[in-house]
Amino acid sequence: MGFEKNQIYTVTIEDIGAEGEGIGKIEGFSLFVKDALPGDVAKVKLTKVRKNYAFARLEEIIKPSPGRVEPCCPVSRQCGGCQIQALSYGKQLAFKQSKVENNLVRIGGFEPEMIREIMEPIIGMESPWRYRNKAQYPFGCSKDGTPVTGFYAGRTHVIIPNTDCLLGARENKRILDTILKHMRQYQVAAYDEGTGQGLVRHVLVRKGFFTEELMVCIVVNAPGGRKREWIPEQNRLLDRLALLPGMTSISINFNTENTNVIMGKETCTIWGRDKIRDRLHLLQADGDDFIKTDRSIIYEISPRSFYQVNSTQAERLYSTALSYAELTGGETVWDLYCGIGTISLFLSFGAKQVYGVEVIPEAIEDARENARKNGITNVKFFEGKAEEVLPEFYGRAGEGETDMRHPDVIVVDPPRKGCDEVTLETILKMQPERVVYVSCDSATLARDLKILCEGGYELKRGRVCDQFCHSVHIECVCLMTRKEK
Ligand code: SAH
Repeated sequence: MGFEKNQIYTVTIEDIGAEGEGIGKIEGFSLFVKDALPGDVAKVKLTKVRKNYAFARLEEIIKPSPGRVEPCCPVSRQCGGCQIQALSYGKQLAFKQSKVENNLVRIGGFEPEMIREIMEPIIGMESPWRYRNKAQYPFGCSKDGTPVTGFYAGRTHVIIPNTDCLLGARENKRILDTILKHMRQYQVAAYDEGTGQGLVRHVLVRKGFFTEELMVCIVVNAPGGRKREWIPEQNRLLDRLALLPGMTSISINFNTENTNVIMGKETCTIWGRDKIRDRLHLLQADGDDFIKTDRSIIYEISPRSFYQVNSTQAERLYSTALSYAELTGGETVWDLYCGIGTISLFLSFGAKQVYGVEVIPEAIEDARENARKNGITNVKFFEGKAEEVLPEFYGRAGEGETDMRHPDVIVVDPPRKGCDEVTLETILKMQPERVVYVSCDSATLARDLKILCEGGYELKRGRVCDQFCHSVHIECVCLMTRKEK
């Protein structure tokens, strides 16, 4: 059958692709249809035809999927941030669970029955809205020249005006409206990517969900340096922003580069503190629920640090990771890819000694400061790549380092590309009793678990945790244990 552009087909959507698009098949030929959902029967028009697949536009939904709901956000379709908002939350969770299970079977080579048996129920949110503790809003000019902010329409740099994203904190709207009003009143221009002119590029807002502290960082197209007033009538703007309840830190970040990277290297605090705090509680599993314990950690967060965007779910994820580590107080644990030490400090509750490894120097500094401020002394952080630091310690045969060479538990939380092969090989040589794998990409997770299995480990538990409700992104944690020899 010859497929050509502009042809129209009726197709049943069966799956969701990597970017949230619906996937349907006609005689084995895959069609990728934006805005279509599994269960939809839809009339689609081919827009781009390749050898084995094609992209198509949704023309008409002939029979809607039983999972279809009216999206709560009026711009959800243009914005593209929430790729699956039109799917009911229950169906979103089911999709994520089966996506992880399928990858473990297809890529990891695990038996489907075994995976169904060991996977615990996905951890969803009771109310999957307003969960993000961080928002980055691009600024630009509307056609009539007035400044606007909102979100880039999927894959473009066209700004869809919206100061009240339903995934973000309620405070974002007042902050952004205050800044826009100031810009209009004092003719402060938004940055224009085309000409490189204009001042305000982005506004970053962070909120400590459990402390209610707010941080605003305005990214400007200016060289930085010693001057203190970068925005015209800056003090008037500060007076207004500082009045907002919870305001803790206001800073300017300088970025004159013509790139997609949002923040430049230099940041200057112009009001309040340099950092905000968030407090994450250690939770105890109670059946499928979680209950708060009296233990918690306070994290200091600066504008540029990595911090899980969903604090509520981060507590659940880290608490699950800690329970998978099965610590009893005497264990030595490595926490690879530790960031600002979030998981390491949770592990410190149950371990004798924790060693964290992270490649970004500022994150390691934050991690050390976080340990100090919480009075935690059984954690040590090393700066460097996991695939370099770990083999280096394994190679050392010095006195008293046996625990480091043969830890009881290794926790990994790599970026999407997964663990380096050298890291996995070293883990196998170190022979920890347990490996806890926290992952934001179930395909690389499955690939890496397969390697660990071939090296003598067994997959024992797994749980998906929905950190990114309404988007296709997935977070999950797995426990591997060493087989008795
Ligand atoms: N566990 C942390 C951070 C997870 S994100 C948390 O939950 O907050 C993954 C981290 O891995 C990032 O901080 C990134 O800087 C770091 N990273 C990326 N490649 C690395 C490598 N090769 N070695 C060590 N750390 C790395």
